Amino acid sequence: MDLKRRDVLLGSTGIVWGWAAGRLAAATPAGAQAQQSPGKWDRETDIVVIGAGATGLPASIAAQEAGSSVTLVEAERDIGGHAITSGGNVPLGGGTSVQKKYGIDDSPDLLFRDLTDWSVVEPNGFPDYRYNDREIIRAFADSSALAFEWLVAHGVIFVDKAPDAVGGNSVGNSAPREMHCAVMDWPMAQTGKPANPIIQKTFSSGNGLMRPLEAAAKKAGVQILLEHRMTRIYRQNPNSGPVLGIAVDNKGASVNIRARKAVIIGTGGSSGNVNFRRMFDPRLTEEYCGLAGMPWSNQDASGELASMAIGASLWGLYNQTGEFGLNVTKPGTIGCQYNYRNLQWLPGSPIFDRARATGLFVGDWQNVILVNMLGNRFYDETSEQFVANDYKSLDPYVEGSYLNAKNIKYNPNNFLDAALAGINDGFNGGGPIWAIFDADAVARAKWNPTPPSVDIDAGFFYSANSLAELAGKIVIKYQRIPMPPTNLEETVARYNSFVDSGVDKDFGKPKPLYKIAKPPFYAAWATPVVHDTRAGLRINAKCQVIDMNGEIIAGLYCGGESAGGFSQHGLARAVCQGYIAGNAAAAETLKD
Ligand SMILES: Cc1cc2nc3c(=O)[nH]c(=O)nc-3n(C[C@H](O)[C@H](O)[C@H](O)COP(=O)(O)OP(=O)(O)OC[C@H]3O[C@@H](n4cnc5c(N)ncnc54)[C@H](O)[C@@H]3O)c2cc1C
Repeated sequence: MDLKRRDVLLGSTGIVWGWAAGRLAAATPAGAQAQQSPGKWDRETDIVVIGAGATGLPASIAAQEAGSSVTLVEAERDIGGHAITSGGNVPLGGGTSVQKKYGIDDSPDLLFRDLTDWSVVEPNGFPDYRYNDREIIRAFADSSALAFEWLVAHGVIFVDKAPDAVGGNSVGNSAPREMHCAVMDWPMAQTGKPANPIIQKTFSSGNGLMRPLEAAAKKAGVQILLEHRMTRIYRQNPNSGPVLGIAVDNKGASVNIRARKAVIIGTGGSSGNVNFRRMFDPRLTEEYCGLAGMPWSNQDASGELASMAIGASLWGLYNQTGEFGLNVTKPGTIGCQYNYRNLQWLPGSPIFDRARATGLFVGDWQNVILVNMLGNRFYDETSEQFVANDYKSLDPYVEGSYLNAKNIKYNPNNFLDAALAGINDGFNGGGPIWAIFDADAVARAKWNPTPPSVDIDAGFFYSANSLAELAGKIVIKYQRIPMPPTNLEETVARYNSFVDSGVDKDFGKPKPLYKIAKPPFYAAWATPVVHDTRAGLRINAKCQVIDMNGEIIAGLYCGGESAGGFSQHGLARAVCQGYIAGNAAAAETLKD
């Protein structure tokens, strides 16, 4: 069942070479070049903030309230970024009023020590915090509780309960810090409708974070420009002098916006940019096209690229490749492109035309087998993705003790590595992963294998009356070779024999339960999902961007997933750094 490199090159090679050529031709989204001041500025403001997400909105509000005029440019049709699609679980601690109310001991010092503890190691051996930048973590620890109270003061309503450990990763082991934004009654990005009134105060959602912040920004006087995509940053000289402003694309028209004080980048990271993310992990080729949070917004590295074009440095790159948390995830739904486990797009969502399908939710991976491009199984389907440290996930835990690593029971957590390993044909990328199942699985799982549950038109779902026919039908640009029909037949026959014997001799799946035998048969897209960006621009404690010589780029700030040096997942670091950057930028003096 193996396939040689020669077969790939000499087989039905239009697919192979077309695929490779397309890859080489791919343009970088930012297309950013270092530029000096443009001939004419179309707009002027004190501070330009790029990206209306978890970093950009707090930065805008903080800067405007500190007395600066702020223009916030957002590439998409609506505000929110990945934050509005998120679960709204926000790990802000260090001694918040709610932690105090519930008698939880926490402090900036404890938070700092937690997030820099070299000794915390996951069962696969990867450390969560070892490579964090101490200066950046100290700033986060010192302003974490402040940022929490600031959110409350700006209209964010948190679910009324004690902080817990739900929804975070790499948030520290010593104290519960996870707070949950109540969804309230704003229409949700995922459904287009408000949540059921019964759960509006108890259900956590990014909606409950971003809509109040949008309202607060408008109230403060922030000018929000939607469908304004930053395409470059202007600096006085290509690699020296202060930042002067930005260029944006507004529906094809170029607009130059002068920033009299500063530019703040909150563009949300680089995981959606194939060439950029492959600097950190060469395996992450084009087929990983179901980025979590897309298609609401992308993470196209435009902030990083535009900053690098004027000399900025990247930082903390281990955090991107370290196998902990959610940089790459196992899908939660199958048969659709956007298959992140914690996000399902439903008809009614304002972006459902782009999402195209809800996907089939997989509650039990016993209902399917997972095969690679060749139709071969590669791992136990029921096994899980990388894990990450959280409150009490190490127990006992002694800060900084060598025993923390020694007491861990080794578990390689290699499901994703096996999926990304490839097929020994000399190309990078594991290729598509397909969930194969039959009519009995559809009945057991109560799936509806028709649109809009599945995406047939774009090639993410197939059905056929025989396995050989099914393999032959799979045609999508990411499937760089046709799936050999006999491979799929042999794989299923072998798996069915494991169901008979009760033992998966190949991958140790705990007691395989169901044969795949009753037509029609199905192949549903189940390729891993790219998610967090944990490496980005080098910043200092004030969120000022640093260049390749270690010097501050005057007037340029960054926070959230576009900033490096911090291994934590998500919202807390984005909100906190937005708050820090907004205040620091507002304190700059006006340029002539
Ligand atoms: C489904 C999902 C669930 C999640 N759940 C949680 C959770 O429960 N808890 C948690 O802590 N984290 C969670 N996260 C992660 C969290 O949402 C992100 O880490 C956080 O939103 C990052 O903030 P950011 O400001 O860096 O980026 P974003 O919030 O994504 O904002 C970036 C914004 O910049 C805009 N932009 C990008 N490029 C440009 C450009 N060139 N010009 C103009 N605008 C641009 C984007 O369109 C976007 O609006 C989740 C993420 C997803 C996708």
